[in-house]
Amino acid sequence: MTEAPPRVDLIGLEPEELDEALAAHFARRGQPPYRAGQVRRWIFEREAFSFDAMTDLPAAEREALTGAFDLVSPQAAKISRSTDGTSKHLWRLEDGELIESVLIPTHTRLTLCISSQAGCAMACSFCATGWAGYRRQLSAGEIVAQFRGARRWARDNGMGEITNIVFMGMGEPLMNPRAVFPTLHILNRGYGVGARRITVSTVGVVPAIQRMADMPEQFRLAVSLHAPNHELRQSIVPIEKKYPLPTLLEALRRFDEAGGKRITFEYVMIDGVTDAPELADELAGVVGEFRAFVNLIPFNPIPGSDWRPSTRARLDWFVARLEDRGVSAFVRESRGRDIAAACGQLRAEATEGRKPVQMGSI
Ligand code: SAH
Repeated sequence: MTEAPPRVDLIGLEPEELDEALAAHFARRGQPPYRAGQVRRWIFEREAFSFDAMTDLPAAEREALTGAFDLVSPQAAKISRSTDGTSKHLWRLEDGELIESVLIPTHTRLTLCISSQAGCAMACSFCATGWAGYRRQLSAGEIVAQFRGARRWARDNGMGEITNIVFMGMGEPLMNPRAVFPTLHILNRGYGVGARRITVSTVGVVPAIQRMADMPEQFRLAVSLHAPNHELRQSIVPIEKKYPLPTLLEALRRFDEAGGKRITFEYVMIDGVTDAPELADELAGVVGEFRAFVNLIPFNPIPGSDWRPSTRARLDWFVARLEDRGVSAFVRESRGRDIAAACGQLRAEATEGRKPVQMGSI
């Protein structure tokens, strides 16, 4: 007996692929073509989390869809709400893996921060996700499902509509391009989130940055620079050894030249490690050629490290110094620290004690 092929998850398909899969399915069943449009609307607009919820389809068609396809929707294992309104979802995936997404409200926006991998293999020395190790890649459906689940929760809890999406949760998005690139198109063309409102944050995976430069859409890029020279950077961001700064900057030039895509540089401010005054000048020298701005992120303390964030005075001084050198800079205030939802604090705490797996073993 041959094994049945794995069922296709409709949530992880790009709109055109979805149309094709549904058209073929309904044609096989002798159903009118408009059925495909009905299902498409239930997925992108009407928030159906199961085929049973698609109430304008005949019962027999709902059953046939259930037999033919999956609709991945992870379970919310835990929801935490910070005193500042930031809310974190801990999602349990089908195989038990745990990932997190974070909703961050401001006056004018509701930003969703999503995960692209369970764990992370990049091992940056200041990041709790990195310390917890790598588990596995997420599928496009599992990434999109965080958006669908968080969007419904935000609507139900009076937070309004998600306006922006950032890939700044767990994982390195550009180490999972097979799922992340389709996800960008699904969010953009399927769910109608503007490309300029979707930011991919990367530690500097050069080949994938080049691919992003070639995309016609203006998806935005944030680069976790954290140090303006090779020596310091390789001591805190191990991938610097594989893609050293000159190579990274070359890829960013290409991205920048593709036009209209302003790059954000992220720079973690760790007391006595990344915040020496001369580093501000060096940083201005490195990013000055781009139409970029710099986000200074005060280090968020993580278990197992006795590093401290830079002082307020040093943060302000850095901003002023960068501005003096013609570089726009902001201090990114931490949100949701009390629920361990701030940058670098995501590590799906319920996984504590489990062994990380090696990247090569997937
Ligand atoms: N892998 C992606 C997404 C990571 S999270 C990337 O590296 O860009 C988003 C940002 O939080 C990154 O800039 C990351 O370096 C930063 N970050 C990680 N740990 C942090 C910590 N403890 N304090 C402050 N920022 C941190």
